[in-house]
Amino acid sequence: MANPLYDALFGQHAGANTPFLHLPDGTTVSHGAFINRAAQLAATIKACGLQPGDRVALQIDKSVDALALYAACVQGGFVFLPLNPAYMPAEVDYFVSNSGAKLLICDPAKAATLTSVAQQAGAALETLDTQGGGTLASRAATMPEEFETVDRDGEDLAAFLYTSGTTGRSKGAMMTQTNLLSNGQTLKNLWRFTRDDVLLHALPIFHTHGLFVATNVMLLSGGSMFFLPKLDVDQLISLMPRATAMMGVPTFYTRLLDHPGFTKAVTENMRLFISGSAPLLAETHKAFEALTGHRILERYGMTETNMNTSNPYDGPRRAGTVGLPLPDVELKVTDLETGADLPQGEIGMIEVRGPNVFKGYWKMPEKTAAELRENGFLITGDLGLIDDQGYVQIIGRGKDLIISGGYNIYPKELEVILDEMPGVLESAVIGLPHGDLGEAPFAVLARAADKEPDVAAIQIALSSQLARFKCPRKIVVVDALPRNTMGKVQKNILRETYSDTFN
Ligand code: ATP
Ligand code: MG
Repeated sequence: MANPLYDALFGQHAGANTPFLHLPDGTTVSHGAFINRAAQLAATIKACGLQPGDRVALQIDKSVDALALYAACVQGGFVFLPLNPAYMPAEVDYFVSNSGAKLLICDPAKAATLTSVAQQAGAALETLDTQGGGTLASRAATMPEEFETVDRDGEDLAAFLYTSGTTGRSKGAMMTQTNLLSNGQTLKNLWRFTRDDVLLHALPIFHTHGLFVATNVMLLSGGSMFFLPKLDVDQLISLMPRATAMMGVPTFYTRLLDHPGFTKAVTENMRLFISGSAPLLAETHKAFEALTGHRILERYGMTETNMNTSNPYDGPRRAGTVGLPLPDVELKVTDLETGADLPQGEIGMIEVRGPNVFKGYWKMPEKTAAELRENGFLITGDLGLIDDQGYVQIIGRGKDLIISGGYNIYPKELEVILDEMPGVLESAVIGLPHGDLGEAPFAVLARAADKEPDVAAIQIALSSQLARFKCPRKIVVVDALPRNTMGKVQKNILRETYSDTFN
C-alpha cells in the first residue's frame, strides 16, 4: 500500500532543496523544509489523539503552516477541513459540529470564543498564528521532522471543503484522493506547468481555487510560488516581473486593469493568466488583451468537482466561454424537467462525470442522491450551453432562473445588455416575488465611476431589444454589487434586500 496523493504531491520532493514558497519578506521555503514541517504537524495532530479518517478543521489566516497542515493531513490520513477566516463563531460552530471534527485549529485571538464551540462538538482546540506562534506551533517544534506516511487508497477521503454558500447554506463536499490527484495532473498537463514556473498565489487557501487548483498543480510540476497573504495589487505588480503565471478570480483582473502601474512591460515574463470561480466579463478579457497582449484563460469548476472545463492553452481562448471539457471529464447539457440530453446550442442544466466528481455531501444523503445521478453524472446547478465549436458557456445558476408568468428568463441575457449601457459598471438581474406573475425581473445596476446611468433611457433601450416579459419591472442603481470573498455576486442578498418591491 501507499498514499497516492501524498506520494505524488509531497513525497516526491522529500529532502529537496528546490524552492517552493517565496514569502513577502524575501525568504524562501524549500520543498524539503516544507515537508519536514508537515511531518512535525502530522505528528502533533496524531498526538492530539486523532486517528486516520478523523477531520481536522482549521480557521486560520493563510500562512506556510496553514498550507503545511494540508500536507500533514494527507500524510497522516486525516481529512483536511479549512474554513474561511471570515466566518463568525456561530458559523464555525455549524461546520465543526456538522463535520464531527476531532480537532479545531484557530488563531490565538479567537481561542476564547471558540473554546466552547470545540467543547460542545467534542473537538480538541489548538491555536496557530501566522508568525509561528500558538499552542500547535509550540507542540510541533518538539516533534521529529519525519513521520511515517499512513497508507491510503484513491477512494479514501482527503478533504472536506464547504461550498461558498452563494446559493444557500454551505455543504461539505467529500473529496477523495483520486478526485484531487486526477484533476491536478490533468490541469498541470493542460496548462503546461513545469518546475520552471513561478506562480503568483494571492488567493485564499480555504477554497478549491487557491488550495487545490493552484497548490496541487504547483506541487505536481515542482515549480514555486509567491505565497501572498491576500490580494494586494501593488504587491502583485511589483512581483510579476519575476513570475510566470497567475491564477485569480475576476476581481484580480479588474483591479489590475484599474491600477496605473499595471503595464504591458510588467507582464513580459508572464506566460499564463488564469481566471475562474466567477464569470469573467468579456469586457475585462478584451481590455486585458488590449493592454498586455495576454489572453486570459478562463476555466470553470466547483468545490464538488475541482475543475470541469478550461479554455485551451494553444487553441483560441474565447471571451465569455469557459472552454472545453477537460480531457477526462464528460459534460452534457440536459433538460431541466426531464433530465434528457439536449442538443448542442440549447440551454439546460450542465452535468459532469469524471474522476474529479466528489463522493457526495457529508451527512446529506438526500441531497447527494438528488444531485449525483446513479450513472455518475453530477447535476451542477449551473445552466449553460455547448456552442457550435464545442465550447461551454455558463448562462447562470439554476436557482437564479426567473420564471415570470410561466416564461423562463435567464438573467444573463439581460445582464450582458445592461453591462454595455452608459454609466453601468456591471449589473445583476434577479426575480422577485410578484403577486400576479409569480416572479418579476428586477435589475440592480452598479454605477460606473465616471457617469450616472440614465434609468429611463435604459428602460427604453431594453424594450427595443427584449420581449416585454423579459424587461425588468424596476431598475435600481447602487455603488457596488454585494460579493463574497471569492468575488461571487451574492444574488441571495439582493433578493432579500429587495424582496418586498412588488408586493
Ligand atoms: P454554494 O454551492 O454553496 O451555493 P458556490 O456554488 O458559489 O456556493 P463554489 O463551489 O465555490 O460555491 O463555486 C462553484 C460555482 O462557481 C459554480 O457552480 C459556478 O456557478 C461558479 N463558477 C466557477 N467558475 C466559473 C466561471 N468561470 N464562470 C462562471 N461561473 C463560474
Ligand atoms: Mg455550488
